[in-house]
Amino acid sequence: MFLMWIVPLLLIGLVVFAAAGGSLTQVFKPASSRACPNCGKTAQNDWKICPYCGRTL
Ligand SMILES: [Zn+2]
Repeated sequence: MFLMWIVPLLLIGLVVFAAAGGSLTQVFKPASSRACPNCGKTAQNDWKICPYCGRTL
């Protein structure tokens, strides 16, 4: 049955995606994120304040 093997494959994909974390977001969303000028962490363009150091972006 189709759903019998697609579900575990999706779960594995989610785990791999979560494990890769920030590097994947930088690869797939290069235009929607930028580096915080204070701490260098990746921040979204629509974020007003850096969640890591609190600096105004
Ligand atoms: Zn910051």
